[in-house]
Amino acid sequence: MDFAFGADDDAFRGEAREWLAAHRGDAVGRAWERELGSGGWIGIGWDDGGAYGGRRAALTQQVVWAEEYARSRAPARAGHIGENLLAPTLIAYGSEAQKQRYLPAIARGEEFWCQGYSEPGAGSDLAAVRTAAVRDGRTYRVTGQKIWTSLAQDADWCFVLARTEPARAGARRHHGLSFLLVPMDQPGRIDVRPIRQLTGTSEFNEVFFDGAVAEDVVGGEGNGWRVAMGLLALERGVSTLVQQIGFAEELREIVRVAVETADGGGGGGGGGGGSGEGAGDPVLRARLVRLWAELHTMRANALRTLGTSETDPGAPSVAKLLWGGWHRRLGELAVQVRGAAATVGPYDWDEERPYELDPLQRLFLFSRADTIYGGSDEIQRNIIAERVLGLPRESG
Ligand SMILES: Cc1cc2nc3c(=O)[nH]c(=O)nc-3n(C[C@H](O)[C@H](O)[C@H](O)COP(=O)(O)OP(=O)(O)OC[C@H]3O[C@@H](n4cnc5c(N)ncnc54)[C@H](O)[C@@H]3O)c2cc1C
Repeated sequence: MDFAFGADDDAFRGEAREWLAAHRGDAVGRAWERELGSGGWIGIGWDDGGAYGGRRAALTQQVVWAEEYARSRAPARAGHIGENLLAPTLIAYGSEAQKQRYLPAIARGEEFWCQGYSEPGAGSDLAAVRTAAVRDGRTYRVTGQKIWTSLAQDADWCFVLARTEPARAGARRHHGLSFLLVPMDQPGRIDVRPIRQLTGTSEFNEVFFDGAVAEDVVGGEGNGWRVAMGLLALERGVSTLVQQIGFAEELREIVRVAVETADGGGGGGGGGGGSGEGAGDPVLRARLVRLWAELHTMRANALRTLGTSETDPGAPSVAKLLWGGWHRRLGELAVQVRGAAATVGPYDWDEERPYELDPLQRLFLFSRADTIYGGSDEIQRNIIAERVLGLPRESG
C-alpha cells in the first residue's frame, strides 16, 4: 500500500497541533473526553460518512492525529472502548436507530463503554459464556457474571455477549448468542466489584447482572458470535498502525533514559537515581536496536495488510502476536535500563494507598497483559495454525 503524507495532511497536522496546544490542560478522564469531543477529535476514523459525528479522516490523517497526540503527551484515553471497539462494530452491524442513538454520544465524549465478554468459565473459550438474556417484551433481562471488565466502574454502558438460547447437546455452541447493549446505571440489578491489582489500583472488575435490562441487540438475536468476532478483529488488527506511534514514543523515552544513564545521569524516567546499565552496555544496545528494527518491520507489515482482513484471515492474529510479544520485551527493557531504581516506588504502608508508578514502571507492569487480552498468544497461534496453515485442530 502506498502511504505518504500530502499537503492536506500537513494542513491537518497544523490544525491538530494547534488544537492540542490550546486545549491540552489539566483535564483528564471524562472532562478531557468532552474537550476532545467538542473539538471534533473523537471518531475521526469512523467510516460513517460523517453522519454520526465522525470525520471520516483519511488514514494518513488518523496517523497524523495519533502522532500529534502522542507528541503532546495528552492523557491516556478513557473513551477508547466506545470509540475504537463499539462504534466501528455498530457502523458495521448496527441498525440505523442504534447508530443514531449511540454514536453521537460517543463522539461528544459523553458516554463511556465497557466490554462484557469474559466470564470465570469463558475466556479463551468465549463460546462457553453462560450469562443468559431472556426476552421481556421489547427488552431483555440479563443474568450472570462477567469478569476482567476493564473500566466498568466508570462506564455508562456495557456490551454483553449473552446466551439468548440455552446451549443444547449437539448444537454448535456459537449458536444462540446475542450481542446486547446494557445501561450500567441499574442499582440492585448490576453490581460492579473492582478487582484490586498488585499495584493497589483497580482497572478491572467483576460485574454481576441480576435481571438487568438490555435495551438493544446488535445484528439481530442469535447473531452475537458474528458481531463479537467482528469486534475482536478490530481489537487485534486495524488500529495497530496508530498504536505503533505510541510504541515509538515509548521506545524513544527508553533510549533517552539509556543515554542519560550512560552519561552518568543515573536512571531518570521520573523514578529517581539508579544503577541502570545504560547505552554503553553492548547487550542493552543490541536489544534497543532489535526492538527498533522490529518496530519498523511491524509498521511495514501493518501497511501491507491494511484492509485485507477479508482476504487474509490470519492478518489480525499475526499482528497481535507480533506486537503483544514486542511490547512485553519493550516493558522489560524499560525497567532494565533503570536498574534497581526501577523496582522501587513510594508506598505508604499505613494508608495502603496505591503505588505511584512512573510511566516506565507502568509500561513494564501493563505490558505483561499484552499477550493475554484480546486473545492470548496461544489462541492467536491456534487461529493461524488452523485457518491459515490448514493444520488439524489440536488433540486433547
Ligand atoms: C489487561 C486486560 C484487560 C482485559 N479486559 C477485558 C474486558 O474489558 N472485557 C472482557 O470481557 N475481558 C477482558 N479481559 C479478559 C481477557 O479477554 C481474557 O483474560 C483472555 O481472553 C484469556 O482468558 P482467561 O483469562 O479466562 O484465560 P484462559 O482462557 O483460562 O487461559 C489460560 C491459559 O491457557 C491458554 N489456553 C487456553 N485455551 C487454549 C487452547 N485451546 N490452546 C492452547 N492454550 C490455551 C491461554 O493462552 C492462557 O495461557 C482482559 C484481560 C486483561 C489481561
